[in-house]
Amino acid sequence: MSPSISGLRASRRRFRTTGPACAAALLLAGLLAGCSSGSSSGPDKAAGSPSARTGTGTGAASPGAAAPDPETYRRWGLDKPLAAPPKPPSAKLTDGMRPGDAPKVVKRVPTQDKVVFVTFDDGAEKDPAFVRMAKDLKLPFSMFLTDDIARAGSGYDYFERLRGEAGADGKRNGVHNHTLSHPNLRTLSPEAQRREVCGQQEALEKRFGSRPPLFRPPYGNYNDATLTAAGGCGVKAVVLWEATMQINDMRYADGGKLRAGDIVLAHFRGPQELKGTSMTQHVTNMLRSIQRQGFTVARLEDYV
Ligand SMILES: [Zn+2]
Repeated sequence: MSPSISGLRASRRRFRTTGPACAAALLLAGLLAGCSSGSSSGPDKAAGSPSARTGTGTGAASPGAAAPDPETYRRWGLDKPLAAPPKPPSAKLTDGMRPGDAPKVVKRVPTQDKVVFVTFDDGAEKDPAFVRMAKDLKLPFSMFLTDDIARAGSGYDYFERLRGEAGADGKRNGVHNHTLSHPNLRTLSPEAQRREVCGQQEALEKRFGSRPPLFRPPYGNYNDATLTAAGGCGVKAVVLWEATMQINDMRYADGGKLRAGDIVLAHFRGPQELKGTSMTQHVTNMLRSIQRQGFTVARLEDYV
């Protein structure tokens, strides 16, 4: 056995036996390097923009949106309301996929719309103020939850509240798969990967009523076995990212600024992980940066 393999096995054993300390360790690891390691890193042949091109919206704002009350967005630290997203494209990236097809790998959504997509990972911090903020701002976002981490404390009920009320289009914020225990999937056997990915598909189906179509591998690490496992249990797209929200500002994989269709990675984090910044301040910082760069926030599930 090579030293690297024995080290790997030892670290897996540690992972299994760490128990409650695990989420905290993961958080620290994620904050320092992992979940938000700047740019996502998958195998070359699978990574990159999907080949299919999404039709773009008309550029017109969704009709029927009431004018936002200045009290509301100012309460959450914004100088102006979030612009309504344009009409969603007529076709999504995953349209036409059949059950069992290998999922598409999406680092960035191909669109000309002046939109970016906000995603929150893991599920550690469960700040009630963020539920109020999301509701007040009618904020669209997608959640990628790890069972071990999301289950702690008030558990999945918190994320149920964050899904919000159905809008005029009948849609709520999406809850998606981020494995059972947040391993580096590249270090696991195909069968162990299947348990991590499909186990969380089943847990989320039981809790929220349907299998999530989107999956995000922890640390952005995956291989062919991940795609096979995910496709086999109903995942349509593996969602990576190009921009990462740090405590106060954004880090970009390319070009030093946001581009149309960027997927922004953020986490459910609180003052302990954010050096005193609350989850809602963190989100305010992110939204102000998005607005400053001329973008608004749209619903990832409308495009992918
Ligand atoms: Zn993560």
